[in-house]
Amino acid sequence: MQRRRKDHENMTSKVKFSKYCVKCGLCCKCLDTIKGSIFSSIINKLDSGDGSCIYLKGNLCSIYDSRPVVCNAESLYKTHLSSIISKNEFFDYVIEKCEEIRGVRK
Ligand code: SF4
Ligand code: SF4
Repeated sequence: MQRRRKDHENMTSKVKFSKYCVKCGLCCKCLDTIKGSIFSSIINKLDSGDGSCIYLKGNLCSIYDSRPVVCNAESLYKTHLSSIISKNEFFDYVIEKCEEIRGVRK
């Protein structure tokens, strides 16, 4: 029963985010907004100097299949955050940050 509830929770958040992201690439142009986080050392290596990522080509990631864990919400959650926060809460936070970056958050 508990397993079924967890599967449902995981599917809900994953589906929610995959429907939400419009692949605008803006989060890859605003690396400076997460520089103060525990992922600073990774972010600094990606930053071309103006806050945009050196691997961004157009609006898309040119190393998508091997992108760092910090760029992969699913992996980031599993490897660093699953013991701290629920998956739904984490994806709600990701969506909130995305809306801030895109300037659509009211
Ligand atoms: S800013 Fe939001 S919508 Fe745009 S690519 Fe990033 S996660 Fe997707
Ligand atoms: S590595 Fe890819 S996903 Fe990560 S910030 Fe750069 S362009 Fe975006």
